[in-house]
Amino acid sequence: MKLVFATHNQHKLRELQQIIKNDIHLISLDDLNYSTEIEETGNTLVENALLKARFIYERYSISTFADDTGLEIDALKGAPGVYSARFAGEDKSAVNNMNKVLDLMKGLTNRKARFKTVIALFLNGKEFLFEGAVEGNILETPLGTNGFGYDPIFQPMGYSISFAQMDSETKNKISHRGKAVEKLVSFLNQLSI
Ligand code: IMP
Repeated sequence: MKLVFATHNQHKLRELQQIIKNDIHLISLDDLNYSTEIEETGNTLVENALLKARFIYERYSISTFADDTGLEIDALKGAPGVYSARFAGEDKSAVNNMNKVLDLMKGLTNRKARFKTVIALFLNGKEFLFEGAVEGNILETPLGTNGFGYDPIFQPMGYSISFAQMDSETKNKISHRGKAVEKLVSFLNQLSI
């Protein structure tokens, strides 16, 4: 089955294809020759995931899903949340985003945070939502070089290493995106029974 993942991010596509079984063939926006960025104008992760998936589904009439992820930090009242990608500016620099978080959290002892992912699926004219989350803590300094985004400063609960110190297989098993994708995949598998 062909399924569009409404993203240009090859890193995420690879990470997801590792989780999704091979009989579901993921197609990216680049494979559709759609080179523009779909603007994330929603105020919530759900709104953004829905608007991206709906846009591609309506334009190409192929089953499509889109995801949106945010890092919610309790001491920052849920920030950066839906603004995670652009927290430190429009250039979406992971290093600047992490430095902004670390600056804002200097001296704070409550370092609880979670990643949340929402996946919106448009399939045969119907929409479905899947969510995943992983609890953890924000470290005082970045650790590790794997992964992307805020991985070096996020330590998942029950582990003594950051996401960026984990191999991708371990991260996928416990991650926000991994959990949301697991729900998406079991839903899709159920359909074909
Ligand atoms: P997106 O909705 O997946 O594009 O995620 C928005 C932003 O959240 C990204 O630009 C990253 O900064 C951050 N992010 C998303 N997923 C992850 C992850 O698995 N690890 C670290 N940061 C992430």
